Amino acid sequence: MMGQSAQHKTKQIAPGVRLLYGIDDFECCIYLVEGSERALLIDTGCGFNDLKFEVDHLTDLSYDVVVTHGHCDHAGATCMFPKVHMARGAVGDADAAVDMNRPAIGDGRWQVMKEAEACHPSERAFVSDGFEFELGGKTLEVIENPGHTAGDISLLDKQDRILFCGDCLVQAMDVLLVVPTALTVRQYLTSMEKLLERAGEFDRICSGHDKDTLPPTFLEGAVEAARGIVSGKEPGNPAELPPVFGGIEALRAKAVNTSILYNPEKIG
Ligand SMILES: [Zn+2]
Repeated sequence: MMGQSAQHKTKQIAPGVRLLYGIDDFECCIYLVEGSERALLIDTGCGFNDLKFEVDHLTDLSYDVVVTHGHCDHAGATCMFPKVHMARGAVGDADAAVDMNRPAIGDGRWQVMKEAEACHPSERAFVSDGFEFELGGKTLEVIENPGHTAGDISLLDKQDRILFCGDCLVQAMDVLLVVPTALTVRQYLTSMEKLLERAGEFDRICSGHDKDTLPPTFLEGAVEAARGIVSGKEPGNPAELPPVFGGIEALRAKAVNTSILYNPEKIG
């Protein structure tokens, strides 16, 4: 049993939709969506604290857990939950997540997480395009949009007209196509064009790292920037990358408010 520690702050996005944030800037934005019958936890953060304890106290409803992709700041705490939904393509990153978090969460906390993972490995339920979480009065549809990683999904909350998109659209930082498991810019573009086809169904975007919602024009910017890269017309400018990205000579391309950091050898 993990002990309770510092708690997330919460912010109401819409009736029954809350953002959990604030443990550490590195950690992703976590969302709790409640219907009349069930709830859905979108992403789990790093495991800086006992998220399950918190969520169990935030809602009286039974809830499912889903991760938008397997990165350690989103899927680091999946081992706290008995069952976690994800795309099949997220498994590799999710398997590595707790170990990746060791420097961020510290050796003591890491040890606790590893023991939890070993004692109670989460069951994984794989979701793909069209899968729906029925919460009672709210339905969230899974849309696969690989690019930032091979296992990226978004969740479309049809009643609240919100798209929860993980890291495929983010303003607080660049859209990172330079992470080791990123796909090509062309594959990212295909996914963003697929989301753009659904743009009539949402008014707001909840990203994995922005405490404020983003307007749909942000998605248009991502498509425009990615098209500029793929066509070669707007390749962007050289960008400094921290050593963690392995010495890639990256470029940064911008359109509207969106900026994409990418590897010019992985345009596709
Ligand atoms: Zn990510």
